[in-house]
Amino acid sequence: MKKFQNYINGKWCDAKSGQVFENRNPANNNEVLGTFPKSSKEDVNEAVAAAKKAFESWRLVPAPKRGDIMKKVGDIMTERKEELASAMTKEMGKVLLETRGDVQEGIDTAYYAASEGRRLFGHTVPSELSNKFNMAVRSPIGVAGLITPWNFPMAIPTWKMFPALVCGNTVVFKPASVTPETATHLIEILIEAGIPQGVVNIVHGGGSEVGNAIVEHNDVDLISFTGSTDVGKKISKMASDTLKRVSLELGGKNAQIVMDDADLELALDAVLWGAFGTTGQRCTATSRLIVHEKVYDEFMKMLVARTEKLRLGDGLLATTDVGPCVSESQRNTVIEYVEIGKKEGAKLVCGGSIAKGNGLENGWFHQPTIFGHVLPNMRIAKEEIFGPVLSVIKIKSLEEAIKVLNDTIYGLSSSVFTKNINDAYTAMRDIKAGIVYINAPTIGAEAHMPFGGVKQTGNGHREGGWTVYDFFSEWKTIYVDFSGKLQRAQIDNE
Ligand code: NAP
Ligand code: MG
Repeated sequence: MKKFQNYINGKWCDAKSGQVFENRNPANNNEVLGTFPKSSKEDVNEAVAAAKKAFESWRLVPAPKRGDIMKKVGDIMTERKEELASAMTKEMGKVLLETRGDVQEGIDTAYYAASEGRRLFGHTVPSELSNKFNMAVRSPIGVAGLITPWNFPMAIPTWKMFPALVCGNTVVFKPASVTPETATHLIEILIEAGIPQGVVNIVHGGGSEVGNAIVEHNDVDLISFTGSTDVGKKISKMASDTLKRVSLELGGKNAQIVMDDADLELALDAVLWGAFGTTGQRCTATSRLIVHEKVYDEFMKMLVARTEKLRLGDGLLATTDVGPCVSESQRNTVIEYVEIGKKEGAKLVCGGSIAKGNGLENGWFHQPTIFGHVLPNMRIAKEEIFGPVLSVIKIKSLEEAIKVLNDTIYGLSSSVFTKNINDAYTAMRDIKAGIVYINAPTIGAEAHMPFGGVKQTGNGHREGGWTVYDFFSEWKTIYVDFSGKLQRAQIDNE
């Protein structure tokens, strides 16, 4: 069996404890894919010390040169795309089509970061005084602690790591415990591309041991976290002791609205992809469908017929549409919510059980599940399930649809299907979410656009695009007085 290691200060190494944990295939839980170091605080301390030391030289490497390394990273990921995708499918379960997309998002992020190395624009602004020059430039911050979830094992780490590095920060990275292999491949690629010693460090292990140690460390200057709202809140509290900068990308309860004038075939393709792609385990997954009463019965019939045809199986097989849940505990959450939905009086119209037969019993499979006649105040309409469960709510007007869509503590993604331009623009204005799609599913973010949500989906930062570079750099305001005399701002400016 393959034994993987941490990478600290330019060397592959075991956890100081010598302990390991296993990585298993969720489509066949008997298959152990490798072991990984079960690290603790001491390993984190070493990684942070290495990153802190490396920062002193990395911050002085010209940003275009840092960007050139990202260009190489993108090239290597492109060469290794197929191999990376199949390793990811094995450890995480989603189908190859999607893991290829996950790697592609990393490639896109690498090339964007490479080009940003030649921008990192600042501002020059006129001074209110004569013979004085004002500018604001971006400075690196220091050691960035990156903590990521398992549902995008490549894309999400790259969203954080590449901008962090191009801005001149160094990195201590803790990936999710259930997807440690993809994260390790990312480090191998950075090494091959020439990342200097100590600039990137990976420490494997549990959230409460390794994650906490990173968040609490005095020498970690910022935290970029993607994961559940519960853990995000804990991190926010823990980090407040050192007042470090924290970016949180958290849960969602995303909805797709289907109005009575929508192209129903298109809306159907969208909701199937949005709700059951990645087995519903996307932060942007469609977990509520809000349908106009005039098309409700017809649309439900179409939806159930297509959902029943979805083929569950190993994501490596070309015949599979939907893979397993990532873990037993994730599937247990799905089972619990199906029970809650039934008890609340929603109508189970499709699925509702774990899947068996054809070897499926060896993996964490759950049937794609749909509840009809869901009321907006039911728990299955309010709480994030993170699995293949769709709650369908009937509405009478666009106004009611938007009200229902907004009635959640989350605000990540949203979608509206209509041909009416006035309704589309009203929705774009009134929906409370970080992302709005018109006539497209709730999933499908592009790497060069801002990504993130409102309310308890986050704390106001954005990943992706140009916006993430604000998080990973600090503004430094510089005044250069070339008058040769003391000029007092606000006083000598008449
Ligand atoms: P999670 O349980 O919150 O874990 C996320 C990461 O945090 C993992 O690396 C985890 O380590 C670590 N962690 C756990 N407890 C920690 C602690 N006390 N201190 C520091 N780190 C800790 O979330 P998940 O189950 O992996 O992912 C699913 C969630 O992520 C969903 O809620 C989903 O909505 C959200 N998500 C959001 C976005 C977005 O951009 N908004 C994107 C994807 C996913 P272990 O793996 O070792 O437990
Ligand atoms: Mg695994």
